Amino acid sequence: MEPFPYDEFRPFQREIYKRTYSGLKSGVHVIINAPTGLGKTAAVLGAVVKYVLETGASAHYVVRTRTELEPPIRELARMAERGVVVDYAVIKSRQDMCCYDQLKRLDYLEFLAECDLLRRMGECEYYPPKDVDVPLRSTSAYVRMLCASGSCPYEYARQRVREARLLVSTYYYVFGRERADVKDRVIVIDEAHSLVDSVARLHSIRVSEADVRAAYKEARRYGFVEEARKIYALLAFIKRARGVASVDELAGVLGGLEVEGAAWEVTKRRIESGASPFTPLVLIRELGRALKGRARYFIEARAEESGKAIVLYPLEPEAIIRDVLREARAVAHMSGTLPVSLYAETLGVARYERVDIPFNAFVPRSNYLAIVDVGVTTKYGERGEDMYLKIAQRVAAVVNVSPGGVLAVFPSYEVMKGVRRYLRLSIAHWYEDQGGIDWGGLPDRFFVGAVARGRYAEGVEYVRGGRSLLATVVIVGVPYPEPAPYLERRVESLKPRLREAAWSAVYLYEAVVSVRQAVGRLFRGPRDRGVLVFLDRRYVEPELWQSLSDVLAGSIIVGDVRESLSAIEDFFGRG
Ligand code: SF4
Repeated sequence: MEPFPYDEFRPFQREIYKRTYSGLKSGVHVIINAPTGLGKTAAVLGAVVKYVLETGASAHYVVRTRTELEPPIRELARMAERGVVVDYAVIKSRQDMCCYDQLKRLDYLEFLAECDLLRRMGECEYYPPKDVDVPLRSTSAYVRMLCASGSCPYEYARQRVREARLLVSTYYYVFGRERADVKDRVIVIDEAHSLVDSVARLHSIRVSEADVRAAYKEARRYGFVEEARKIYALLAFIKRARGVASVDELAGVLGGLEVEGAAWEVTKRRIESGASPFTPLVLIRELGRALKGRARYFIEARAEESGKAIVLYPLEPEAIIRDVLREARAVAHMSGTLPVSLYAETLGVARYERVDIPFNAFVPRSNYLAIVDVGVTTKYGERGEDMYLKIAQRVAAVVNVSPGGVLAVFPSYEVMKGVRRYLRLSIAHWYEDQGGIDWGGLPDRFFVGAVARGRYAEGVEYVRGGRSLLATVVIVGVPYPEPAPYLERRVESLKPRLREAAWSAVYLYEAVVSVRQAVGRLFRGPRDRGVLVFLDRRYVEPELWQSLSDVLAGSIIVGDVRESLSAIEDFFGRG
């Protein structure tokens, strides 16, 4: 019997299963791009389990967020019910897995200090973990059962990392600063389109004036005079920093600052005096460690409500990812919205097996109408009140003829606000910055204004009873990220390797992923039916058209709202 969670393969699942398995066997990267709703998690996981069971290799399946741990765990549980058992462990954040509810409410660094103390003093009743068997059902059941058996779930999972044949974790444990050893393992990356951005976030550090002032006071109070002097220099650096700050200058300010010993000494003395073990010196320690590491950083100074802060972003998260992937035995990258070639080029993956199921192969052409309206654009420099009015008229007209929900995705808050000033709607409507949607009680006809990469555009499901609640998705403009100093520096740092593709790797990539995410809100399966309206003339330009050709092929190109309306009415009339 094949290690697969279901009796039968659905369309395309067998192809994904077979090609993933053969790709892993030949040790190349496999990049699987297939629309949401096709069942790729089951297919890829089946192939990985088959490979693991046949070869004796181990695999590490990584997801972006803790809620995304559930689908692979569900599929593994189904496989186990069918007799396909693989030795596994699940890891998410130590704090999420902690058995003490009161510790979950602390700031993360404070929590780490408390946990460390409890373990060192032998006062955690769940540590060390016991050798128990836990059946696989869900992450919450896994954590609950381990706590009930007197075992810290995090420590339990960490102990099993070496022997487990399949680890399921968030990105953090593979791509974070304290990453797990992946040598000779198969790595499966879920939601691979968000990998670069997620790794950039994992390696970013924010240090505020208030943090540094607290660290300075702590160093003075416990007699670490030299450390206090350098921390004071850091405080002065943050106070005078504006916009983009210099990494070299920060390194100079921190040069020779060593707070490892001071942080530990202060922790001990705080414990002796009955205070919380957390000292703000650990943040200074983290900052120093980051600057001494291999990643190159970009520093942005921000004026926040509570004072100034600096944020360090890694300039080339791709280099951090490459360092990890090069140790792996094989890698499977999964996504539903990936610009495959651009992704591979950006990561520097030269040889790969491409399993790309186009949108128009999954959703029958008769189930959707795509319209590109070249009469408008949100291109920078052409935006303005006239353009916002034209766009609002188009959106309102489309809402009027759509028999179900309409999702409009805007490239930015600024454009959304501009268009919203002219948009008059007579049905229930909400915008990304408002909240308050009763998701269970959405009426048949409604309008949601979302911002690309925001929660309403990517994080929520417009589904009831397994079918999409949306009739129409309108993509206003092209959702390129707004140009920002960090992104500009990213482009510059990628240029030596990617040349003219560097801009596309940073800007076009995000736009394509965002468009596909928006399309995926409507089409959760091949039976869903609806209209896609692209409100920007740039969609007919070669690079964008090419990157979205499976969605845009067969589009009606219009320059006038009346042409769109008759096509939409005709489409829904046929339904
Ligand atoms: S060791 Fe104890 S305090 Fe630390 S995470 Fe586990 S259960 Fe919580």
